[in-house]
Amino acid sequence: SSQQPRTAGPATRRPSVGVRVGKIMVGGGAPVVVQSMTNTDTEDPASTAKQIAELARAGSEVVRITVNTPAAAAAVPRIAERLAMMGVDVPIVGDFHYNGHQLLEAEPACAEVLAKYRINPGNVGFGKKKDSQFASIIEKAIQYGKPVRIGANWGSLDQGMVATLMDENAQRPQPWDAGVVAREALIRSALDSAARAEQIGLPRDRIILSCKVSGVQELIAVYRDLATRCDYALHLGLTEAGMGSKGITASAAALAVLLQEGIGDTIRISLTPEPGGSRTQEVIVAQELLQTMGLRAFTPLVTACPGCGRTTSEFFQELAKTVQGHVRAKMPEWRVMYDGVENLTLAVMGCVVNGPGESKHANIGISLPGNGEAPSAPVFIDGEKAMTLRGDRIAEEFVGILDDYVAR
Ligand code: SF4
Repeated sequence: SSQQPRTAGPATRRPSVGVRVGKIMVGGGAPVVVQSMTNTDTEDPASTAKQIAELARAGSEVVRITVNTPAAAAAVPRIAERLAMMGVDVPIVGDFHYNGHQLLEAEPACAEVLAKYRINPGNVGFGKKKDSQFASIIEKAIQYGKPVRIGANWGSLDQGMVATLMDENAQRPQPWDAGVVAREALIRSALDSAARAEQIGLPRDRIILSCKVSGVQELIAVYRDLATRCDYALHLGLTEAGMGSKGITASAAALAVLLQEGIGDTIRISLTPEPGGSRTQEVIVAQELLQTMGLRAFTPLVTACPGCGRTTSEFFQELAKTVQGHVRAKMPEWRVMYDGVENLTLAVMGCVVNGPGESKHANIGISLPGNGEAPSAPVFIDGEKAMTLRGDRIAEEFVGILDDYVAR
């Protein structure tokens, strides 16, 4: 309902081969998928299942868990059983490093239950063992009908590939600088591994690629290059993005540029949680990134002014926080009951300067009384002034009006 001027919006999506990850499609024109990763000990099925459920309820459409030990691999089917008992249906991805070939061989139930395997070509094995260990994981994926993400990472580059490229570079009349060599090593590691997986027999529609780095400009450069050199579905993420506002800002800056260019089929925001902080923050940031860019819709969007010297108290901020928290908490229920409710827009404004105007453009808006204004808060519904709230119960009454609107 917004009448703000609109720009052209995101570019046409880069065509990619669609990959089915459990019940979720990644690439092939499907909406950009939100995914996340647990930080519990996978050997502990209770805490891991609980966190997967929290992430799924927050809106993570795919959840990855580390599978790093025999006990962790043995726990995976028990985690799946617990999730089924909790009524949580979300594809689980196993993250394998170093010993994935052994774990998948030793625990067939783990290999069966996982919806996708993630392997890192930089540490799937070393020397002569690398090829055979890589092949055995790909053969397991073929045997169990699973897709694989080949996820190269700046922090664990394939050293054989780096050495080869450095040799090649030394022969060039004008050698590349070290950064370009490293970028090429990362991309070629992913592409060569994907080609090898196809040679072994894994179909193209079961391969997803990622090439993660921790710098914003480097990530943009790597993915722009990677995107032109293949049509595999791409998983985007700024690795080791960091904590709090730094991690959010860096991830959003890098991913927004790429998404705007149509690059990226699934995203993960890798945030370092505050001690005791919620893991679900990375899901909320991923959703908000996609929604504010106009690529997906997950919850009603709340427009709120920043407040200024015209706002008389913190009541305005508290109301904005209450409304934002309310819609997020209600979404699992609303999503099931009301198709399309996530496209609603809400406005919570601090005074008459922009309040009525912004409120009229939302499905529901409220303009609180600013400094020196009459102690009344006009509420607009679908562009029309519907009522005026007064007194101490403005927050409860406004949330009630919102619930009634959604129900209608
Ligand atoms: Fe300040 Fe009013 Fe603008 Fe909000 S709408 S920032 S309170 S002038």
